[in-house]
Order: sequence, then structure tokens, then C-alpha cells
Amino acid sequence: MTTAAPAKRLFVLSFGCQMNVYDGELMASAFRRAGYEAAKEPADADVILVNTCAVREHAEEKVFSHLGELRRHKQRGALLGVTGCMAERMGKEIARRAPYVDLVAGARSFGDILDLAAAARDGLGPVISVGHDRPPPARDVSVRTDPYRAYVAVSRGCDHHCTFCIVPATRGREKGRPMAELVDEVRALVADGVVEVTLLGQNIDSYGKDRPEGEDLHHLLRACHDVPGLKRLRFVTSHPADMAEELFDDMATLPRLCGALHIPPQSGSNAVLKRMARGYTRERYLEIVREFRRHCPEGEVAADFIVGFPGETEEDFEGSLSLVREVLFQQSFVFRYSPRPGTPSAERFEDDVPEAAKAARNLRLLKAQEAVATAKHAAMVGRTYEVLVEGRSKKDPDVLMGRTRGNFIVHFRGGPDLAGHLVDVRITGHSPVTLRGEIRG
Ligand code: SF4
Repeated sequence: MTTAAPAKRLFVLSFGCQMNVYDGELMASAFRRAGYEAAKEPADADVILVNTCAVREHAEEKVFSHLGELRRHKQRGALLGVTGCMAERMGKEIARRAPYVDLVAGARSFGDILDLAAAARDGLGPVISVGHDRPPPARDVSVRTDPYRAYVAVSRGCDHHCTFCIVPATRGREKGRPMAELVDEVRALVADGVVEVTLLGQNIDSYGKDRPEGEDLHHLLRACHDVPGLKRLRFVTSHPADMAEELFDDMATLPRLCGALHIPPQSGSNAVLKRMARGYTRERYLEIVREFRRHCPEGEVAADFIVGFPGETEEDFEGSLSLVREVLFQQSFVFRYSPRPGTPSAERFEDDVPEAAKAARNLRLLKAQEAVATAKHAAMVGRTYEVLVEGRSKKDPDVLMGRTRGNFIVHFRGGPDLAGHLVDVRITGHSPVTLRGEIRG
């Protein structure tokens, strides 16, 4: 009697943005179709993929230390691959610095990841695939990291050329996916238990510009919103230069569309915004936020900021600080400028803000945001909010964790069977980062 060979297993370690996590799920989908199962840790895997980010030098250097650590799994025959934006940017250089790596497949070039892995397995390594705009593998909706929430990438790449950004180089020109395909993916996710979908784009507002008439963010939101069984819809990431007025009307009139925008200002100084080639001014940014809040008075805005961009003066930085205090962001992600080879700013501008000044500005902006968040949280005490229960809190298994429509994190007592459900929670307390509450009714 022949016993079936144990299924091969894949481990994907993804770094960076949601788009990279999504790509990790696409690669895992391809391996799933080839009979692979997901390994819980590298030690159990036959194929290990390190899915990388290239946004900061520090992130890239960390990958080499991970590779050095993962190298030992090759002794038992595991295949070690590097994918994602750093792979696309560095290509052969990764194989030169880590000659034990079997496969390098970039963020634009992993469409045939299975064939590339097979070629590497046949000892034709290292196999390097970069610079090809191959369509990614089809998604298997059951391959995802969260049972109730999922991302759907509406496009790949970006046509903006923000001077600090490596994405256009590593992910290429913007290419929108057919709207019908996107709605089908949402339907399949909902059928598989998902209740909240986030539509994902490097610059989601320009979705549709390479699609036929009637395929744009406005129509896509309405089509996804009407998928039976979907409880919540979100979208990220917005670009102030491309936001359409009708978007706010959609946010005000589509009940399942959450009033939470992620609009990275990057800086509050017009001089810095100009050198970043962001395509809008501080004043225009504030106008957009006002318009959004006119339509959605309960609406929340999250931000990204870069501190220490070349030439950023103390006065420029004060512009970012005051923007935090004026807009009252729900959350701000703050990054120190890191010159990326291949970006316009690395070629044009000297990285002249000292590291110590970058670190200090990073801290000051986070402190300003913390003060805003604390005041916002305090104002929510006593009020009741709809919360999507995501599951048990990491810190206390007797406590549940979930998010409001505005993306505030709430902890409250309740049974684990509430996971995936919408509940009303009255806020009873808070910290600078989270809220505490009790379930109503
Ligand atoms: S909009 Fe700018 S920052 Fe965002 S991905 Fe495109 S180039 Fe990068």
C-alpha cells in the first residue's frame, strides 16, 4: 500500500505595505494550486519566500540579516527566495551579496513564480526575474491572513513621480484591473466569510484612468457596496491631487462605506511639497479635508508624514506640526527621509538634514499626534460606536478587539463567538492609542 507523499509547504515572510502583503497572498495562491500547504514557520517549509520592501535603506539591510538567519534551512533542502520591491530594485545584487539565495523575483516579475521556483529547484539557480511586467498569479480568496477582513488590489503601480518614492521604479506604471473582476473577487471573499473589504491602490483615486468609461472609483465603490453580505467597505491610499468631489458624496450616502480616509500629506510646508513633486499645496490639502468633513461630519483622516526631507527647515517642519494640530488626524504614520537610489530626490537633492534632527522631528511629530489622539479619544468617552469584532485582544484573551468605522481600536469584554460581527460599544475609557468599552444591548 503506497502512502501519499506529504504535501509540500510554503512560508511567506512579507514586509512593508499592504500591497506587498497582498502580493504574498497571490504567490501563496499559486503554490496552493500546485498542492502546497502553508507552513507556520520557516523550519517546516520546503519553499521560503522573503517578500521585501524597498521604501527605506534600513528595511533592505534588515532583509540581509533575515536571509543569513534563514540560510540554515537550505541544509535540509528548502528553497530560499527573495521577492517584492527590494528584489525588483536590486535583482542580481541580492544574489551577489547572498549567493545562497536560489531565486530573486521582483514585484513586477513574479507572475510565473511557480516556474521560477521549479527552475531554481532544478539547480539552474540563482534564478533572477526582474523588469518584466508579468500579470500576477490569480488569487485564491481562501489564502488570506485574516478570517473577516481582506484587501483587494484595484491596480498595480503608480503614475505619480513623488521625488522620494521608489514605487514607480519597483512597481511600474499604474495598471487598473477590470471592474467586473474586482467585484467578483469581493463576492468570492464575502462567500468565504469576509465581512469587511478594503480596496487597495498605491493611488486609489486614479483608479479607472486606463479603464473604459464607467470603470472608476465612484462606480467601483457603488458596485462593491451592493455585494450581498458585505458589512463594511474601505479604500486606501488616497492622493490629494486626484481626489474627485463625488467621492465625498459616495462616502455620505453609502451606509456600508466607512468614513475613514487615508490621505498622506507627507509635509505641511508648500516649499517641501514642491520639492517632493506632490502636486498640491497645504491650502488645497486643508480644503479637501474641509470638504470631506462637510459631507461626513464624523469622518476621520489618517496621515503619512516624511520628516527630514532635503532642505527641510525648522519652519518647514513647524508646517507639518501645525497641520497635525489643525486637521486633528485619527492617526499619523511618521517616517524619516531615506534617500532611495533610483528616485529623483536621491539624484537631485543632498540628504542635508542631520540624522539627529530627523530623529528629533520624528519624535516631536509623534508627540503632537499623540496629544491629538488623546483628546479625540477623551471626546469619545460616553458615546456608542459600531465596532467590527476582529477577535481576542493580543494582550488579554478575555478581552475582544475591534475597530470603529473611523478605524479607532477598541477593547471590550465579550465572547469569542462575536468575532466577525458588528456590535455597538459604549466607550468607557481610553489610552493615547486605544479605547475601552462595553457592549450595548
Ligand atoms: S503617489 Fe507618490 S508616494 Fe504614492 S506610490 Fe505613487 S509615487 Fe509613491
